[in-house]
Amino acid sequence: MRDGDRSPVVVENPDGTGPFVIVCDHASNRIPEEYEPFELADDALATHIAWDPGALAVARRLSKRLDAPLLWPDVSRLVIDCNRAPDASSLIAVESEGRKVEANRGVSAAERARRLERIHRPYHEAIDACLERRLAARLPTALIAIHSFTPVYFGKTRPWQIGIVFGEDRRMADLLVGELKADPALSVGINEPYSPADQVYYTVERHAGPLGLPAAMIEIRNDEIGDDAGQRSWADRLAKILVAAEPRLVGARHAAA
Ligand SMILES: [Zn+2]
Repeated sequence: MRDGDRSPVVVENPDGTGPFVIVCDHASNRIPEEYEPFELADDALATHIAWDPGALAVARRLSKRLDAPLLWPDVSRLVIDCNRAPDASSLIAVESEGRKVEANRGVSAAERARRLERIHRPYHEAIDACLERRLAARLPTALIAIHSFTPVYFGKTRPWQIGIVFGEDRRMADLLVGELKADPALSVGINEPYSPADQVYYTVERHAGPLGLPAAMIEIRNDEIGDDAGQRSWADRLAKILVAAEPRLVGARHAAA
């Protein structure tokens, strides 16, 4: 397949009928051919500045376990960050964690509009379409975003193995935090390492907010999910919690439908 034919949006298990829809905004570190050379060392493309290492593998396992549709953009966040508002200054990063992203310096308004049109818009429209289809079919639905974060950020060690990020709607966050905190071995970030104030809650807010869907963003420290065993372990753990939470999260809606 030529690179130009490759879709910037991937939808897996679109007809899954479980009560969750999963999005993975930073699943991929792919730089489409047209943006090569990206003037960034390949080793940088392997790190968290280009994507969320491990996140897609966990999201895929969860998608299977929960029979959940899974949507993700197959383009690095360095080209355009799908978890940012179209007018956010960090939409097309010119710097990431102290490292200059030369390829993004001086990007014109036309090029910005083009990336929005070709990557950001189709991704969010695919999520809209998935949610609308489910609501039309009266399928109970909650939205989960899976991300990963780096253990050390600007020289500071982050203590949490997992963080739950949420806005005003705490329904899903309270259930997740409550269950995770029951394990004394875990340090659970509550709106850590990020919070909606950091402008990182765009996808969840945009899609779950207007529809009133229970939703949260799950951030897993990437050294926890660097290999198959870690990915499986976290996916199993989260799947158990989510399956148990299901009647409380979407049960009322289901009964009303
Ligand atoms: Zn992320």
